[in-house]
Amino acid sequence: MSAVLPSPRCRARARVHGVVQGVGFRPYAFRLAEELGLAGHVGNDARGVVCEVEGAPAAVDAFLARLPAETPPLAHVERVLSERVPVLGEASFTILPSAGGRPDALVSADTAPCDECLAELTDPGDRRFRYPFVNCTNCGPRFTIVRGVPYDRALTTMAGFVMCPACQAEYEDPRDRRFHAQPNACPACGPQAQLEGASSPAGTDAVAAAAELLLAGAIVAVKGVGGYHLACRADEEGAVAALRARKHREDKPFALLVPDAAAASAFVDLDEVAAALLSSPERQIVLAPRRPGAPIAASVAPGLTELGVMLPPSPLHHLLAADVGCPLVLTSGNVSDEPIAFADDDARTRLAGIADAFLVHDRPIHMRTDDSVARVVRGRPMLLRRSRGFAPGSEPLPVAARRPLLACGAELKSTFCLARGSRAWVGHHIGDLGNFETLSAFRDGIDHFEALFDVVPEVVAHDLHPDYLSTAYALGREGVERIGVQHHWAHLAACLAEHGETGRAVGAIFDGTGQGADGTSWGGELLVGDLHDYERVGHLMAVPQPGGDRAAREPWRMACAWLERSGVGEDVPAGLRDMVDPERWGVVRQMAHTGFSAPATSSMGRLFDAAAALCGVRSESRYEGQAAIELEALADPGGHGAYPIDVGRDLVLDPRPALDELMEDLSAGTPVGVVSARFHDGVAHATAAGCAAAASAAGLDLVALSGGVFQNRRLLTATASRLEALGLRVLVPSRIPPNDGGIAYGQAAIAAARG
Ligand code: ZN
Ligand code: ZN
Ligand code: FE
Repeated sequence: MSAVLPSPRCRARARVHGVVQGVGFRPYAFRLAEELGLAGHVGNDARGVVCEVEGAPAAVDAFLARLPAETPPLAHVERVLSERVPVLGEASFTILPSAGGRPDALVSADTAPCDECLAELTDPGDRRFRYPFVNCTNCGPRFTIVRGVPYDRALTTMAGFVMCPACQAEYEDPRDRRFHAQPNACPACGPQAQLEGASSPAGTDAVAAAAELLLAGAIVAVKGVGGYHLACRADEEGAVAALRARKHREDKPFALLVPDAAAASAFVDLDEVAAALLSSPERQIVLAPRRPGAPIAASVAPGLTELGVMLPPSPLHHLLAADVGCPLVLTSGNVSDEPIAFADDDARTRLAGIADAFLVHDRPIHMRTDDSVARVVRGRPMLLRRSRGFAPGSEPLPVAARRPLLACGAELKSTFCLARGSRAWVGHHIGDLGNFETLSAFRDGIDHFEALFDVVPEVVAHDLHPDYLSTAYALGREGVERIGVQHHWAHLAACLAEHGETGRAVGAIFDGTGQGADGTSWGGELLVGDLHDYERVGHLMAVPQPGGDRAAREPWRMACAWLERSGVGEDVPAGLRDMVDPERWGVVRQMAHTGFSAPATSSMGRLFDAAAALCGVRSESRYEGQAAIELEALADPGGHGAYPIDVGRDLVLDPRPALDELMEDLSAGTPVGVVSARFHDGVAHATAAGCAAAASAAGLDLVALSGGVFQNRRLLTATASRLEALGLRVLVPSRIPPNDGGIAYGQAAIAAARG
């Protein structure tokens, strides 16, 4: 008999909530238990991870303390509930297989390769040397390959690949980085890359061969994580111009793929925040100021002072970027405004006239996701498009939804949002809901999220605009309660909710258009509101929008409307004389005068269009907001004064004095850069004054700035600093886009608060 008394044992059960499945949480718990000499088990169920540990009380306490603190990189623990349970006398620790049930646990987003996988990718001695699909529990594809939950290989697009013995051994070993890594693969058993439309020279693999084609000036379609891209070298005007011509995308800026942050800083200025954003595992496109003289073809981003750069989002892109050794254009695989191609046959058909060759692979993409886009504003990241790397991530709602709900968003930059309790799953960017394909992507996306997160919406929120396809979709959902949410209020609510604000605030919400509560088109709004209610306390003076939507594509029409409103619109102004036919000017002026086919709008976006046209920036926009974006790019840095915009006692902003001075400056030969700067600062000053007046009238000190117009960095920065100088607190969007990509989340926050 042993002389040593058995030491006292205890047993605890811990339930872990958050993103804890498919991220290596069970092996992590296994290793921690083993290190502390504990017995017990860990398993997934439909609500997260449950583990029980048994052993010396100090070790059990250490386990519970360390469990939420040392988690694997992709895990996100929201809470751990633990309790003592009776000791069972177990001798070892085991990992239990997944159980079925309600799929409440979260599927994680697609993630760029981790450092350990990258080391293998570039190690000639490793069995995964140059393998374009290397991944582990800490990195790799997730959302784009998941067909259903629970997250297991059988329910991903990896189901068709049978692991070789070496991969299977890794998969089964809890001490291995690839324990239960569902997409685990190697050259012997996993997906293969292939170059189509060109032959790979002997001794080179498909990626190396594609790199050679690119270096020779070819356009190559590249199957990525969430869809197809089109690539060409970015330093050769001929290649970029050919891509533009074949894509029928005359002006929209292209993004660049560069191997690492050091390479990126040769082309753009990156501060610390921007560099961190660029290197983050979400791998979004980061917009940053272009370095003067950067060796990038002019037609990559015509008329703009910023470039979008991205680091490789997958191992395949790492290899390609390194093999090519120069920056590559990497832009969505589509023709003009169609959604990005992601199904192989569809891509081959649609991109056949654009790409000289296809770099493809045989791992199917289940969910299309575009690249996410962000920039740094006021020292913080601001997402402009939320998609790959973020979907299907959730954001908290400040007021929990009593019933499960769906918010359908708006029309442009469409997204949807599903919510249950205080969790809101913001769908990936779908695109402009203008055609059959985006509409079916919208429906499919909603169906997929409803299944993934087991949400059956009882409440459906939608925009007030009767013609939006998202509204039609909402009205077509049967057996639900519907709530129509005013567009600009949704923008305000999104900004408040993402910052956890439940109180009232002033909102300056500037965008291109949105259906107002009075049935007219709004877009230059001063609101006071919270998640329950809002009031329109001021707005930009309304003018007729000649030709309706056409005026958004032809900014000169808004110039004409504003001059007509000022009583000086008889003749085509000098800056537009080369661009606009006097006869058409006369017709549009008549429309503005009579209001025939010219609905009233208080849109700030359209005012920027008017200013841009008057400055001769352009008479037509080939993508949303182009004239205004180029006007911002032209603005001289620094202060040059500000044009006067009257802020009436009724908080109606009258920009006519500003437009008068703008015209005078132009005819006096003042450089457009100075005129643009004065216009921006004029709008900023008037906005700040209007917000300050609204805040003091309502007894508030909080102002939210949102809407697509606030993607204008100069306007946002100038308005915010002015407001802060007046002693007001300023909120700007960060994780939820300021443009219409943020509408669905705002609608969800409102619908939740209303119960
Ligand atoms: Zn990895
Ligand atoms: Zn293998
Ligand atoms: Fe909007």
